[in-house]
Amino acid sequence: MATSETQPFWDAAREGTLLVKVCTACGAAHWYPRALCPFCFGATAWKESAGTGTIYSYSVMRRVPRPYAIAYVTLDEGVTMMTNVVGCELDDVRIGMRVRVVFVPSAGDEPPLPMFSPIDASTA
Ligand SMILES: [Zn+2]
Repeated sequence: MATSETQPFWDAAREGTLLVKVCTACGAAHWYPRALCPFCFGATAWKESAGTGTIYSYSVMRRVPRPYAIAYVTLDEGVTMMTNVVGCELDDVRIGMRVRVVFVPSAGDEPPLPMFSPIDASTA
């Protein structure tokens, strides 16, 4: 759900760019985006993420018509976000797998959602 607070994030998502918030005081990145740094309560600013990270943990949801994988992905910027893993066999998902953000289209006028796909070992 887009609010004025997160509007820049969704605007960037439409352009295929993942944004994270970084503290202007202590320099730490965090997720989800907040107006104040969760570590020192300093002001925060948007920063473009490289969009690459590593699967920290995951679970495959099988009791649904379409099984899917929920994962915690730690971005190379050091923040961990809950997301979905797409674009591969669910049985191939592994902890420690290198992944890259993909923006999956939403219905209607909703902005696309950031999810993650494995980085092909041959191109990583
Ligand atoms: Zn801070």
